This record gives sequence, C-alpha cells and structure tokens, in this order.
Amino acid sequence: MIRLKSYVCDRWEAGDGPLRDLIDPSTEAVIAQTTTGGIAFDAALAHARDVGGPALRALTFAERGALLKAMARALHAHRDDLLALSTRCNGTTRGDGKFDVDGATGTLAAYARIGRALGESRLRLDGEAEKLGGGARYVGQHVWLPRPGAAVHVNAFNFPAWGTFEKVAQAILAGMPVVSKPATATAALAFRMVELIVEAGVLPAGALSFVAGPAGDLLTHLGPQDCLAFTGSADTAAVLRSGPGVRERSARINVEADSLNAAVLGPDVEVGDDLWHLFVRNVVKDMTQKTGQKCTAIRRVMVPQAQVDDALEALAAELALFRVGNPADTSVTMGPVASAAQLRDTRAGIDELGQEARIVCGGSRPLQGLSAPDGKGYFVAPTLLKGSADSERVHSREVFGPCATVLPYDGDAESGAGLVARGQGSLVSSVYSDDRRWLADFLMSAAPWNGRVLAASKKVSDQTFPPGMVLPNQVHGGPGRAGGGEELGGLRGLNFYSNRVAIQGDAGVLRKILS
Ligand code: NAP
Repeated sequence: MIRLKSYVCDRWEAGDGPLRDLIDPSTEAVIAQTTTGGIAFDAALAHARDVGGPALRALTFAERGALLKAMARALHAHRDDLLALSTRCNGTTRGDGKFDVDGATGTLAAYARIGRALGESRLRLDGEAEKLGGGARYVGQHVWLPRPGAAVHVNAFNFPAWGTFEKVAQAILAGMPVVSKPATATAALAFRMVELIVEAGVLPAGALSFVAGPAGDLLTHLGPQDCLAFTGSADTAAVLRSGPGVRERSARINVEADSLNAAVLGPDVEVGDDLWHLFVRNVVKDMTQKTGQKCTAIRRVMVPQAQVDDALEALAAELALFRVGNPADTSVTMGPVASAAQLRDTRAGIDELGQEARIVCGGSRPLQGLSAPDGKGYFVAPTLLKGSADSERVHSREVFGPCATVLPYDGDAESGAGLVARGQGSLVSSVYSDDRRWLADFLMSAAPWNGRVLAASKKVSDQTFPPGMVLPNQVHGGPGRAGGGEELGGLRGLNFYSNRVAIQGDAGVLRKILS
C-alpha cells in the first residue's frame, strides 16, 4: 500500500484526518491512500513565493532550461517503473502509459531546449522599442518579466504525468515556483514523479511543491501575482473562477476544460483512398487511446450522407478488434476508465446519447474485462453511435470515455463548420479534404471555434499526428466551452506566467539594462 504525502515548504507531510483510497481501476484493489487534512496551504504558498520565486528569477533562461533537462533525466531513468505504476494507478496499457509519461519527459525536454535558445537573459523583449517623443531618445519597450508570485496547478485525473509536468515546464522556465495538485483518484503516479525529482535534488528550494489530494483552502490564499492553471471539467472551472483570489485579487487563471472535438470528412474523399484510411485510423485512435479519456478525443464525427454507411462499417470493424481488459495482460489493447465515478458517468452519458442516436456497436452494459477478477474493474466497450441532423445532446454532452457519434451532413463546407460550432468551442478538430476551396471555406468558419485544427490532405497523410496529440510547440486550449484558455505553443506558453510591462525611458539606458 502506497501512502501518498504532500511536499510543502521543502518537506514531506502526510496530513491527518480520514484517508481517501486510490483504486486500481482494473481490479478495484486499493493501491494507495492519501489525505491533505491539516496541511498549512497558506504557508506552502508563502514559501513558494518567498523562497522558490527569488531563486528561479535569479537564474537565466538557459539555467532554468538546464533544470528542466535534469528533471526529464531524473524521470526517464525510472521510466519502466513509472509505466508500471501508470497501469495500476490509471489503468493504462503500456502504449497509453507512454503517451502520458513520455509526454511529460518530452515536454520538459522541449522546454529545456527553448530555455537554451533563450540563453543568458532573464527577461524577454516583446517587439522593438518604439519612439514616443519628438526625438529618437525617448522610447517605450515592452518586456515580459516573471510574475513574482506562485503558480498553482490543478490537474485532471486523465493525465497525471503529462498534465503535471507540461505545466511545470512552462512555469519554471518562465521563472515561477509551482504548487502542483493532481486529481486525487490518480495522484499516485504524479506523487512518485515528484518524489523522484525531490530525491534527485535538481531544483532550488521552494521551486516545486506538491499537494497529494484535495485542495482544502489552498485557492482561497491566491494573491495578486499568483497564477492558477486549471485542467478539468467546466463545472469545476466555474467554481474556481468565482474564488476570492481570482475574483477579488485578480490572480490570473487559465482554464482547460471539456470539449466536444470534431472530425469532419470532406465530400471529395473517396472510400478506400489514403485520406479515408487516415480519417478512420484517427477516429479509432482518438476513441480508444487512454480509453477515450482525453480532452482532445474526437466525440463528433461529421460524414457526408453518401459515405455514412461505409464510415460506420469501417469504424465498427476496427473497434471490434479491441481487447478490453486489465492492461497488466499485454494482449489487452484498451484498459478500463479510471474510476468508479468515471464508469458511472460514461455509462450514463452513453445512455443519454442513446436517447437520440442509434448505438452501432458497444453500449453501456457492464463488461467483463479480460484478465480482470470476475465482476471487477471499470470496463466499457468502445461505443459508436449514429445521430442525425436533429441530435442535440451530441453537441452538449461530453462522454469522457471510448465513445463517439457519427453525424451525417450534406457535405457543404458551411454546414460542416456549423456543426463544429454547435459544440460551443473545442480544443481541436480535424478535417480531411483535398479540395482547397472547400477547405478554405470550412476553415474560415470552423477554425475560430477551435484552439487547433488538423487539416489533413493527401500529401501530408503519411506525416500527420493524430489530432488528439498535444505538441509542446503548438498551442493547446480552445474558446468557449473548452475553457477559453491557452497553454504550450513554445514561447507562447511562458506568457501566462509573465507580466508584460511597457518600460519608457532613454533608449540608450533601456538597451543596456534590458539586454
Ligand atoms: P474535475 O472533477 O473538474 O477535477 C479536476 C481537478 O479539479 C481535480 O484535481 C480536482 O481535485 C480539482 N477540484 C475539483 N473541485 C475543486 C475545488 N472546489 N477546488 C479545488 N480543486 C477542485 O475534472 P476531472 O474529472 O478530473 O477531469 C475530467 C474533465 O477534465 C473532463 O471534462 C475533460 O474534458 C477535462 N479535461 C480537459 C483537458 C484540457 O486540456 N482541456 C485535459 C484533461 C481533461 P480532486 O480530484 O481532489 O477532487
């Protein structure tokens, strides 16, 4: 049994009060326990601000980048253990575990490279100095400076590794200390990773703190220079937005929330050609990778009426090949959802969609997982539905599991874009077409409803990544329902943790002190 602890004020604290069990979702065995009762979060935040912040701000970008590289190395040295823990803690197959764990080390390494490229400076210039007065001497220069506060991270259950360290990478490179809180249900993996970083002794004192469970009163202590980066449901986001730190003291908040991501097949794509196969592969991958528990997973599949039957047949045939069960058995290709609550929610969501769409394969019935104890484990069959133009819920109910709905449309670019927009703002959509005019029309209307769009065409069909893959150099986030936030995107990811200040003065003096 693992006993999780929080890391605050540079020491491990077990907390006191009732313990919460963390469950292996394949067997329902208790694998860990935790509590954060009694932990002084105000002191934890003050320590991060007063000790970690100055230490990080004293370093150059290259030096902070070196910290990230050392973190990536410390984690990578324990990769196999972390992948095994991911399977127990989160029900991941080895491939899904790599997506999370290697995603964490990969993003740390990517931001380490950005730090090296930024070099010996401790601030970033934003554009050129602009002449303000009549002469050439008096100018204004915009600069990005690290916020002198703490970065609080609240993460979702589905990516305990990547979610934790993609945020840590951006904050630390920007020069802000972090207080990181994973979702309690899957916190064991993030806990072990932070333990490895602490054991490796790579970070300055106060640079990284960790809350191993419920946030208690942590967020009520947010101050004017603190940041809150949240990933999770829109409902929780609404609660956090109304907290006193954000509402009254203007602590900065970034929200990555739910999303009903779309895949749209263009009318020019013929059944059996390269783009068709890419479309089928990507939909199946996104439905089943991490058992569909990805914020970027495809939930809505828009297909021109003439291709609908072929699409349903091709997708159902691929989904039938999945072996659902305990991923400790390496023949299993899709694991359980992460918790009993997720199982309940996923089944309820399939039933809700089933009221206005036809279930083509899968469904909400209990499923005995391969190599799982009888009647145990949180397994759901990959589920495909077929909706219609009248479907409402498919545009509003996020089923956070291996489930997607095919929606026929008339093949018109504006109609397809209109359906995308009915999701009220998404993280990513993918579109498949070689018709440039159609694609241009579609993108002009659909792209602003997304944070990212994969426009797949024939010549890149063998090079694209699945749309669900978040890359460190591309922005991640989306408008409206998706939270209205933005993270990653290379250098852009540092902006959230930095204040842009216009400094006005003597051009010669500014050039010297701002270099
Ligand atoms: P959730 O229930 O909103 O929980 C997210 C995090 O918020 C957890 O760490 C949770 O802690 C914490 N939390 C809940 N209530 C809180 C409160 N009152 N004060 C402080 N913290 C609080 O979401 P989830 O079930 O973990 O994640 C699934 C959702 O996240 C899905 O809707 C998915 O679309 C979304 N998601 C979005 C992205 C993205 O990048 N846009 C990525 C992944 C997931 P406890 O666990 O301790 O309760």
